[in-house]
Amino acid sequence: MFRKRSGSILCYACGKLNRADAPACFYCGRRNPGLWGLAPGLGRWMGRLDFAGLVTVVAVAAYVASLLLDPGSLLSARSPFDFLAPSGLALEHLGMTGAEPWRQGRWWTVLTAIYLHGSLLHLVFNLLWIRQMASDVEEVFGHARFIVIFTVSGALGFVLSNFVGVPYTLGASGAVFGLFGAMVYYGRQRGGFFGQAVLKQYGTWALVIFVLGFLPGFHVNNWGHGGGFAGGFLAALVLGGGRSEHGTHRVLAALCLGLTAAAFALALWTAFAA
Ligand SMILES: [Zn+2]
Repeated sequence: MFRKRSGSILCYACGKLNRADAPACFYCGRRNPGLWGLAPGLGRWMGRLDFAGLVTVVAVAAYVASLLLDPGSLLSARSPFDFLAPSGLALEHLGMTGAEPWRQGRWWTVLTAIYLHGSLLHLVFNLLWIRQMASDVEEVFGHARFIVIFTVSGALGFVLSNFVGVPYTLGASGAVFGLFGAMVYYGRQRGGFFGQAVLKQYGTWALVIFVLGFLPGFHVNNWGHGGGFAGGFLAALVLGGGRSEHGTHRVLAALCLGLTAAAFALALWTAFAA
């Protein structure tokens, strides 16, 4: 049912009509224009996917799992920022990233750590921002590019902070800054009254939260924030804004989702089975 093997399909790369069983697109020459019959189903599924909802479910599930893995840590909070904070060991098992995990070869943590949070406040703060921005980002970039921008910017923020030597880090803040960066790119590119308004709103949010990160006591990974912003801006630059979402975006988005799922499988395997 999900696969369409007969009749006609639209090439995922150029959007033109081909036979479903054509080995290469008649127009642009791309091989497998219907992605083994999966392209139409992928498009329908992704068009309906509530990615902000998926991020919420995964992040909340990972947070609950991190608390349950080491329940003793629940009682040791010293400040509101530590309230219901999972232990470092539990977070390491689930795929927290940083220069230390990198030294041990755990490259997949740049993906898993996006969904892990060190306290209830940290989790709620990031999820509120993602849900606040999701409709704007989907309006401007579509469902597939939202997934790509979120994943690429979250991972790039961690790559940068791991590279400069932040020992341990986690959270969706880098990806949140990636959404800021993508919207700032869009506002600049679109221009006019609407573009200016987008640029002003998202630029202000990004600047205010970035500056807040330097306040003493917050222990914020500012490299992750800056790297995430740059990653989102670059991803938007490469993918482009506007309504013309095509199959290549969906393939990239499916790749991001698949890699993230594989990263969690690797983290769990390394922690509990290897
Ligand atoms: Zn084509």
